[in-house]
Amino acid sequence: MVRMTGVNKHFGDLHVLRDIDLEVARGEVVVVLGPSGSGKSTLCRAINRLEPVDGGTVEIDGTPLPAEGRDLAKLRSDVGMVFQQFNLFAHMTILDNVTLAPTRVRGKSKSEAQERARTLLDRVGIGNQSDKYPAQLSGGQQQRVAIARALAMEPKVMLFDEPTSALDPEMVGEVVEVMSGLAKDGMTMVVVTHEMGFARRTAHRVVFMADGEIVEDTTPDSFFSRPATERARDFLGKIL
Ligand code: ATP
Ligand code: MG
Repeated sequence: MVRMTGVNKHFGDLHVLRDIDLEVARGEVVVVLGPSGSGKSTLCRAINRLEPVDGGTVEIDGTPLPAEGRDLAKLRSDVGMVFQQFNLFAHMTILDNVTLAPTRVRGKSKSEAQERARTLLDRVGIGNQSDKYPAQLSGGQQQRVAIARALAMEPKVMLFDEPTSALDPEMVGEVVEVMSGLAKDGMTMVVVTHEMGFARRTAHRVVFMADGEIVEDTTPDSFFSRPATERARDFLGKIL
């Protein structure tokens, strides 16, 4: 579903992605771990070219992403993204937040988009809040809306970049639960997270990055119980 081949990225002299080869199969859940600054967010952003890359190719469902233009916009709309900051539109209701892109970008009718939005909001447990504004919701609720909004585009793959890092601890669980449900339903997912419980229970693979490189790419079980590299052992020693 996602194939990155020989992807490199520099910020000036800083080489932040080094020859990244990464394949994510349909229905696979890949958790990306690594120290701060190792390139996890840049990797996520490179998958839909929010971040232009210096070399290599990225394919979504077999189609290479062009550098720009209408085809890029089309392919990008197949990739849902959820960030640490929820980035909801503050002046719009929850329902309007979720229906905006499907009506504007996918050309759906308002009623069709609203029906789908209500189903998705129910699914993330926000069904009764659809007429409220983002500021009236808790952080955990806002993040669940952000997930529903991404799903409304019927993406082929969902990228999550530290979706629970800005949340109060008591709200982390409700967002993790929504993500686990999506995984169970077969969504293809790339997840940068510090939630090791999610990584252990839900991920099919753990990709460990350090200094812009993929250092380990293995099962959660083998990563957590038998890390193969010193850098991974060092990382796990600090976080567990
Ligand atoms: P964190 O765990 O702190 O979120 P990360 O693994 O997501 O870190 P990235 O945000 O991908 O790391 O950053 C990788 C490197 O690239 C870091 O050294 C960062 O300072 C640098 N970097 C990221 N974005 C930019 C930018 N727009 N301009 C210059 N340098 C950048
Ligand atoms: Mg990051």
